[in-house]
Amino acid sequence: MPEKHSGFHEFMPEDVWKWKIIESRVEDLLALYNYQEIRLSILQDHKVLHDGITALMQEDQAQDVEDKVLSLSGPDQSISLLSLRPEGTISVLHHTAKLAAPGDLQRLYYHGPMFRKDKQGNPMEFYQLGIEYLGSDSVLSENEVISLGMRICKQLGLHDIYLELNSFGCQTCRRPFKAAIRTYLEEHRNALCAHCYKVLYANPNAETGCTEPECLEVMAAAPKISEFLCPTCKKNFSKVKQIQANLAHSYKVNPAMLKNFSYYNETVFDFLLKNNGKPVMIGGGGRYDYLAERITGRKIPAVGFYLNLDTIFELMQQRKLFSRNTSPFTVYLCAQTQDMDIMLLQLASELHDYGITTYVNPEIQDTESERRNAAAQGASLMLILRDENIREGKILLHNLVKEYPAYIPLNQVVGEILLAQKSLTK
Ligand SMILES: [Zn+2]
Ligand SMILES: [Zn+2]
Repeated sequence: MPEKHSGFHEFMPEDVWKWKIIESRVEDLLALYNYQEIRLSILQDHKVLHDGITALMQEDQAQDVEDKVLSLSGPDQSISLLSLRPEGTISVLHHTAKLAAPGDLQRLYYHGPMFRKDKQGNPMEFYQLGIEYLGSDSVLSENEVISLGMRICKQLGLHDIYLELNSFGCQTCRRPFKAAIRTYLEEHRNALCAHCYKVLYANPNAETGCTEPECLEVMAAAPKISEFLCPTCKKNFSKVKQIQANLAHSYKVNPAMLKNFSYYNETVFDFLLKNNGKPVMIGGGGRYDYLAERITGRKIPAVGFYLNLDTIFELMQQRKLFSRNTSPFTVYLCAQTQDMDIMLLQLASELHDYGITTYVNPEIQDTESERRNAAAQGASLMLILRDENIREGKILLHNLVKEYPAYIPLNQVVGEILLAQKSLTK
């Protein structure tokens, strides 16, 4: 038996129907907002990915991110040509840059497995939903995206979802902020560990993962981007807060919001909720107006977010938010004499023509066992084929709900079943 790898997903039937609930609710909602699904290849060109990552990050940080990408090496262990997708934004931007006419608006989404290495370097698979709204830098577009994320969470039953908002500013206000941060880091270099210094120097909003009290103290007192926002960024951010308040979305401003990707500008946001009193982050995103130009050469303003579907699944499971629709009307078919195979399959096929679910038992068993099996399958009706009955032109139909067995004429089987279905499902 292969060793179970905690970083991989194996969806068993007892969970798959729950995942389908998530998928169908999310997709129905996205259709209302006019978002189109894009299906990205799981295998990605290593070079495209590498160029994307290095274009959007400082060298040190890009290396950290690249180290987490799972790549396939050639048979001779030579350089890798293919990688398993670690995220979707880079390929979506390449796709859009190739196909979209200037000024086109694209509302896209994708979901499925992504792959990275965890902190220990083990391969890990995680499920993500990604939304990218490309082609607009309007405040309206980012509010649509934020509202969509809130709506998805509520649609899945996570009604206590709330937002954290911040503005990372534009290039004009980020420049003095970065300079101030770097001066501050120099001044407090002795109080910071080497890791924090390096990470924050490259991206002042990065998550360092450090728990040293001294580092935390220095970081808490560091200059915040909010002190550097230019009038336009300030105005836009006020508008975002106003719109979200008007939509009755609970939010708080988090001036110390962390984002590991340094490409965000202006509005950034996280989706959170409290579980057992502790805040749990289930997704987040922001505006990334400059990214497309850096990795594709084309200017495409954009805003997007991700939702961590594994976390959402766990939360919905804990909160018992999955309920199975009543199982479909099912007819259990079995034979109690040999050589009924053709007839069994013919009857099943006729029932399928009418959209009726069947369960065919291939074994020959006594009536009591068959009844137990049928009940275990949630069947409402049981058809028992016996040679001696067939020769008399009849068949035993057992109504398992009303506990009522009856012989019905062989040429009226489907009609009788449809009648029974009508009376049982009304
Ligand atoms: Zn600005
Ligand atoms: Zn530190």
